[in-house]
Amino acid sequence: MMKKFPLHWQIITALVLGILFGTFLPNQVGYVSWMGEIFIRALKMIIIPLILSSIVSGVTNIGNAENLGRLGLKTILYYVMTSTIAIITGLLFVNLLQPGVGADLGLSRDVEELGVLERSFGQMLINIIPTNIFRAFVENEMLSVIFFAILFGFFITKTSRNARHTMTNFFDALFEVMMKVTFFIIRFAPFGVFGIVALQVSATDLVELAQSMGKYMLAVLLALAVHAGITLPLITRFIGKASPLKHFKNVTTPLLTAWSTSSSSATLPLTIQAVEENDGVSNKISSFTLPLGATINMDGTALYECVAAMFIAQAYGVDLSFGQQIIVVVTALLASIGAAGIPMAGMVMISVILSAVGLPLEGVGLILSVDRILDMFRTATNVWSDSCGAVVIAKSEGEELNV
Ligand code: ASP
Repeated sequence: MMKKFPLHWQIITALVLGILFGTFLPNQVGYVSWMGEIFIRALKMIIIPLILSSIVSGVTNIGNAENLGRLGLKTILYYVMTSTIAIITGLLFVNLLQPGVGADLGLSRDVEELGVLERSFGQMLINIIPTNIFRAFVENEMLSVIFFAILFGFFITKTSRNARHTMTNFFDALFEVMMKVTFFIIRFAPFGVFGIVALQVSATDLVELAQSMGKYMLAVLLALAVHAGITLPLITRFIGKASPLKHFKNVTTPLLTAWSTSSSSATLPLTIQAVEENDGVSNKISSFTLPLGATINMDGTALYECVAAMFIAQAYGVDLSFGQQIIVVVTALLASIGAAGIPMAGMVMISVILSAVGLPLEGVGLILSVDRILDMFRTATNVWSDSCGAVVIAKSEGEELNV
C-alpha cells in the first residue's frame, strides 16, 4: 500500500489536509500542531551528528589537498554565481513592479523585539573558527562545525595506516547509522508537515495580507519563480548536463519539507538523503556541497533581501542611485551568506543592507507581516539551488548520475 503511494504524494496530501484543518478548525489546531513540533525537533536532533559524520567520511574519501581545494573552490564559485543571478532577477522585478511606491507606511510594525543586528562580514569569517568545538556543536554553529569536520577529515588521511583505517571505518559507520535514523524520521514527514501547515494557516489571514502587501509578495514570488523555474533548471541542464525535471522529482520530499519548515538546516538530512539515494551523487560530493550550501548558499534569501530592501526604499520615497543599487546587490549577497538556515533569519539580515545604503532600520517592520509566508518559498528555493549545485558539481567531477 505504502509503496503505491509515494512519500511526496503523502506529503502533498498532508499539506492539503493541513491547509483545510487550519482554515476550518483554527481553534482546534492545538490538537495537531504537536506533530509538527516533534518532527522539527527530530530533524534538528540529527543535524550535527549527521553533518559531522557526513563531512568527515566525505573528506577522507576525497583524499588529497589538491582535490579538496578544487572541489571547495568550485562549490563556492557556483554558490556565489547562482546567488548573484538570483539577486539580479529580484532587482529586475522590483524595479519593474515598483511594489513600494505608495505603500502605506502606517502598516509598519515595531521591530524592537527582533534584535536587529549589525554584524560585520569580517567578524563572521573570524567566527568560523570556533574557540571551543563542543560549544559549536551544542549551539549549532554550522560553519564552525563544517570547518572543524573538514580539517578533521583531512588530517585523518595524513595519519598512519592503522589510525586511518580505524577512523575512516568509524566515521563511515557513524554516517551509515545517521542515514538510517534520517530515513526513519523522514517516514513521519507527512504527519509533521500536516501539523506545521495547520498551525501556520490558522495563524495567518491570507486575504488581509494579500490586500495590503499583495504587490510586494507578487514581486518576490514572481522573481523566485523565474529563478527556481527557469534559471536553475537551465544551469542544471546546460552546465550540469543533467535533467532538471528528473532531478526535481528526486528531491520533491526535501523541497516540500523546506517549504513547510522554512528551514534549510532542518531540511538538510532529507536533502542529503535524496541527492545521494535518488540522484546517485556520491557521498564525497554531497557531504561537502550540501551542508555548506544549507549554510551559505541561499538564492531565495538573497533575492528576497534585495527585493525587500528596494521595497523599503520605495516606500520611504528614497530613490536609490545606480551605485547604491550595486551596494544593495553586494550586501544582499553577504546577508544571504550570513543568514542562518532557520525560519525568518533572512529578514533579520535585511538590516545589514538598510544600514549600508542609509535607510531607516524600522523599515523592516513594514515587511514583517508577510515574512513568514515568503520564507516558505525562499527556503524551498534555497534547498532547490543547493541540490542543483550538488548535481552540477558531481557531474563536473565526472560522476555517473541517475539524472
Ligand atoms: N529560512 C531560510 C532558510 O532556512 C532563511 C531565511 O530566512 O531566508 O533557508
